[in-house]
Amino acid sequence: MGYIALKIRLSGLVQGVGFRPFIHRIALRTNVQGYCLNLGGSEVEIHVEGSSNNVSKFMKFLLAEKPPPAIIDYVEVFEDKIEGYKSFTIKKSGVIRKLLSQIPPDFAVCNECLKEVLNPNDRRYKYPFNSCAWCGPRFSIIEKPPYDRENTSMRDFPLCSECLKEYTDIDNIRRYHAQGISCPKCGPKVWLTDKHGNPINVEDPIHEASKLIDDGFIVAVKGIGGFHIAALASSDDVVLELRKRKNRPQKPFALMALNEEVALKLVELDNEGLRIIRSISAPIVLAPMREDANVSRYVAPGLKKLGVMLAYSPLHYLLLKDTKDKYLIMTSGNPPGQPMCTTNECALSKLKEYVDYFLLHNRRIINRVDDSVVRITRGRITFIRRSRGYAPLWIKTSISTNRPIIAFGAMLQNAGGIGIDKYIIPTQYIGDCENRETLEFLEQALSFLIKSYDIDLRKAIVVSDMHPEYPTTKLAREYSERYGVEHLMVQHHHAHIASVMAELDLPIDEEVVGIAIDGVGYGDDGAIWGGEVLVASYDTYKRVGHLEYHVLPGGDRSTIYPARYLLSILYSKLGYEETLGTAKRLGIIDLVPGKDLEVKITLKQVDKGMPLTSSTGRFLDAISTLLKISWHRTYEGEPAIKLEEYSRPGNLEIQYPVENRDNVDIIRISDVVLGVIELLEDGVDKHVVAYAVQYWLGYTLGKIALKHVNRKRRIIVVSGGAAVNEYIMKGIEDSVKGTSALLFSNEKVPRGDGGISTGQIAIAKAKIIKELS
Ligand SMILES: [Zn+2]
Ligand SMILES: [Zn+2]
Repeated sequence: MGYIALKIRLSGLVQGVGFRPFIHRIALRTNVQGYCLNLGGSEVEIHVEGSSNNVSKFMKFLLAEKPPPAIIDYVEVFEDKIEGYKSFTIKKSGVIRKLLSQIPPDFAVCNECLKEVLNPNDRRYKYPFNSCAWCGPRFSIIEKPPYDRENTSMRDFPLCSECLKEYTDIDNIRRYHAQGISCPKCGPKVWLTDKHGNPINVEDPIHEASKLIDDGFIVAVKGIGGFHIAALASSDDVVLELRKRKNRPQKPFALMALNEEVALKLVELDNEGLRIIRSISAPIVLAPMREDANVSRYVAPGLKKLGVMLAYSPLHYLLLKDTKDKYLIMTSGNPPGQPMCTTNECALSKLKEYVDYFLLHNRRIINRVDDSVVRITRGRITFIRRSRGYAPLWIKTSISTNRPIIAFGAMLQNAGGIGIDKYIIPTQYIGDCENRETLEFLEQALSFLIKSYDIDLRKAIVVSDMHPEYPTTKLAREYSERYGVEHLMVQHHHAHIASVMAELDLPIDEEVVGIAIDGVGYGDDGAIWGGEVLVASYDTYKRVGHLEYHVLPGGDRSTIYPARYLLSILYSKLGYEETLGTAKRLGIIDLVPGKDLEVKITLKQVDKGMPLTSSTGRFLDAISTLLKISWHRTYEGEPAIKLEEYSRPGNLEIQYPVENRDNVDIIRISDVVLGVIELLEDGVDKHVVAYAVQYWLGYTLGKIALKHVNRKRRIIVVSGGAAVNEYIMKGIEDSVKGTSALLFSNEKVPRGDGGISTGQIAIAKAKIIKELS
């Protein structure tokens, strides 16, 4: 039997998931010799030698039996020199990068670790930081790849002799060479303080925190990727007190449940919802609240859906287990508009107005990661916020470039990203980039990826939105000047469409018809776009349809009080006197704070003719106002979200007249608004009207898109913040049924502006390639 040697390089998600120990075990099982090691780009290199029979067995096990969280994206195998190794060893990590690989995200606690924490006879009984090769924090504690303990904040906690024994015992499947392990003896510690930071001496700080929460106190809890504010969800008094302290009248709070069983007492979860909530990423899932759920109506005022996640670390599990309800409000511990606190100092200074106590620990959080938020639209996972458990996983495409790309995204609900070789790597969720703190967070998140993937900024291209006033655009310009590199500005809705194209990995010369529906995006003509049909490739686009333009009087104030935009739409059809009369008759005057006077001023502002918008979000807000569902926006998307929740399917058809001007289809929403007023005055059920407005909008957009589908251009993609809307998406789906068109939307990055950076990178890649060829 011949003797052979192979060198194998694996990339994907192969570090921080127990991969090397797994390799070592199968090497022993198949009696091959050699070594394996982590390389500097988060990839793993293996050298095996032995009889060809044993080596091929090794290869078979390697590909068939990988550890649960591992993802193998790429395998490189070539014949190597026989070195005469006598044994198989795990070598010290290399720093040289041979392949690019993924930095592991944070993983929810596994069942095995949880069992230990709940077993009074286990030495990790009640240990809040228990983790193993298959679970625990990764991204939130890593300073740089490779994922070795000395590159994480766990290096502050040297292994005790017992942990070291487990770490070096090859038969210990979950702890052999597991980088993040620790125990009550050697690991991080938890303590409790009052609101001024004075330590409270108790034997079991987590148990004590549970009792305080049960007594109605509000407690800041340092977790995995940042701070939460924890409070009873079942008490109106507590929830109202929290709302008062946070000055947050309406925006819903997320809940954390001890386990699946508890979650199912709060919300209805279908199979897809269950699969996602119990996944290793453990995001917040938005799902219909059960009618009998014992949850204060102030948790999610005016909404039928609740955001629920499961306890994803032993610390959270232990905290919830000792509360009476077994579920709590767990909202981000951040000052308004600013990123969540990650250090004890930040929490003690910035959260003390909101909380009565702090539950702190001494493991450093290196990378801030907010809880991810998903919902299910038309049966598919849809990201509202992509962060913990997902970031910084990459999106692999077949379009490879030799210049790195740095993308700054748009503004609200932002994420940045980098492009390198074949890969698009979005940052974690950043937030609304309106202030210094959030912009700094964007820079930190980008520079983590720039460092980790060893990017030379002098060879990069920077990409931003086209909006000249976005702070992110200005930041991109700064980078471009500082490093003397090109600054590409990308149209907002083109980026939305390209984000889906990148997810689908469409080839470079593919054309699609894109439907991009959202709130705000700077258009070519300086207007605010947001209800667009574009024929697009990665590097070009042509606008072929959009919602009718109307003046958004007074800009932002019309976003907060959508009645102003409604008045603007009415005015375009009815003129001054009749608009005033209609506003009075329908009670619209009472839906702006300044009543009569504000209505008149609003119409004067409309006369200025600026700024114009084709926004879907503003249109939906105006309808929500007209139906008197929601007319004062206190958080992003509020009136449109409430419109969707209010809807009830019925047989009502709403006509959306389409007018073709210079080969562009314009959807006359002013006629729709007048039609809705007639329906209301006829006493048609408002729930059914709400449904029909959204469904037929989708249907109409779909029909316009279909006109541009042909044999060579068969794909329709839908993106933008309004593409999470169940009824608009159903309308689009139904409009293309039975045709040759193929319909897709985002499932890897948010459909909202959190997906913009992915689209920006895809567009930049295509531009780089086209310039070269
Ligand atoms: Zn585990
Ligand atoms: Zn230990």
